[in-house]
Amino acid sequence: MKNDLFDTNRFRQILDTEWLGSDFIYRKETTSTNNDLKCMPIERLSHGTVLLADTQLEGRGQYQRKWLAEPGKNLTFTVGLIPGQPERLPMLTLSTAFGLIRGLHAFYHEELATEGEQGFCLKWPNDILRKGKKIAGILTESVFNGNKLERVLIGIGLNVNQESFPPDLDHATSLHRIFGSPQPREELLGSILKNIEYSYRRWHQHDKELIKDINQTIDGFASWGEVEVNGEQFPKKVKLLGINESGHLLILTSDFEVKTFTYEQVKFRRHHRES
Ligand code: ATP
Repeated sequence: MKNDLFDTNRFRQILDTEWLGSDFIYRKETTSTNNDLKCMPIERLSHGTVLLADTQLEGRGQYQRKWLAEPGKNLTFTVGLIPGQPERLPMLTLSTAFGLIRGLHAFYHEELATEGEQGFCLKWPNDILRKGKKIAGILTESVFNGNKLERVLIGIGLNVNQESFPPDLDHATSLHRIFGSPQPREELLGSILKNIEYSYRRWHQHDKELIKDINQTIDGFASWGEVEVNGEQFPKKVKLLGINESGHLLILTSDFEVKTFTYEQVKFRRHHRES
């Protein structure tokens, strides 16, 4: 398939949000969409500016890891927010991940219903998986002016029409691979932004139910299994209890101790038979 450029006119016609993406910036090529919105003069940035690039030359993940995406085939974009308060930023990432999952579920409602599958799920704190394979990653960065939060940049890389991945990304998948045909990026982005706007509103209103809803999207939530933390295997089986109000991840050990994780790399593998 040839690399089609993102159709901004079509996207603008489809977009059905109140504020998110009304200010939409398209770049054919850039180094990193997060960097672009980080460096943009603050007077130019609105709460809800979205910047999308068809080619990202230096896409990043956490800890300076690389985000690799074939040009013109995926969705690589950054949402710029001016939330005012510096609190609850981890929850903002989780709420955005929830919005992304909700947008995918809304878009693929029929296909997923036919398959009778659970759909897409969250790997705490910033990845979206489908049947254990990574389909999207989120990178949240913030800019402070003194101790005042000036802006938050939420970068999203979603694998849409990429059909093959380099050998070291054998844990990656795309919507094309899942659903077996090329997917319309403009419509998809419209659905995603509508749902991120919805989850942002819930985050902003301190909606307590949001935690429950996010927990239900977490891969392995409320199940027993094995956990690896920063590459080290926990000796006993644990139950994944989901997140708390700060967005931290909780597990229960088999000796009834609750452990809380904030920034650690946590890999959970569910046991097939529950006990
Ligand atoms: P991991 O995916 O190994 O659990 P992580 O979630 O901590 O790591 P992130 O910082 O979110 O990692 O994303 C960067 C990592 O994602 C890279 O190190 C690479 O393994 C993987 N990656 C890069 N590009 C893609 C892609 N297009 N699809 C899926 N995974 C990717």
